[in-house]
Amino acid sequence: MSYISDKITEIQSTLRQGVTLLAVSKFHPAEKIQQAYDAGHRSFGESRPQELKAKYDALPKDIKWHMIGHLQTNKIKYIAPFVHLIESLDSERLAAAIDREAAKCGRTIDCLLEIHVTDEESKSGWEWSELKAFVEAGGFQHYPNIRIRGVMGMATFTDDESVVRGDFERLAACKAELTPYFGEEFDTLSMGMSDDYLVAMEYGSTEVRIGSTIFGEREY
Ligand SMILES: *Cc1c(COP(=O)(O)O)cnc(C)c1O
Repeated sequence: MSYISDKITEIQSTLRQGVTLLAVSKFHPAEKIQQAYDAGHRSFGESRPQELKAKYDALPKDIKWHMIGHLQTNKIKYIAPFVHLIESLDSERLAAAIDREAAKCGRTIDCLLEIHVTDEESKSGWEWSELKAFVEAGGFQHYPNIRIRGVMGMATFTDDESVVRGDFERLAACKAELTPYFGEEFDTLSMGMSDDYLVAMEYGSTEVRIGSTIFGEREY
């Protein structure tokens, strides 16, 4: 058993029922992903479209690739034919562009709405008021080739757990408030990373995105 498969098993044993593990493999080589694959893991997250595409080409085709990083409209084409879930849908412009690329590929692409809930300017995502207004106006109905499956977000980068709890609580509240507009298929709340996923699960996370605990430090 490899270190990577041990780590995955260890994390799986701490997950609440119904919570899935996304192994965040960004900046790590395909060989490490293959080790996790050989241990039975199938869902991986990447933050850059070209890197994701290169790994898709190099690795088994039943891997479910999640795009979790900021996505520029001109890069969607690299991943549109096969991506399993785009978690970083953060603007109407991007929604329109993903819809167009999905149509070209003859498929519907599942997406999460990334919401910005922290005070940090560095983090991306919709501002809640804008997103709420857009959804209320039926904005996503113009984009039949994307299917909105839920919400993704990040907590503030801080040791102050009360701040982190507040962020996860807000994300969960956003998800709850949007659910009536989308219905049953709006079932995903992606929140929690290596350092805060145990807390995120207390607030109803259904998917945790874990990188460094599984694969080690990233080399940028
Ligand atoms: C890198 C990244 C993660 C994983 O972070 P770790 O701290 O390494 O677990 C999760 N989510 C997003 C959006 C990321 O960019």
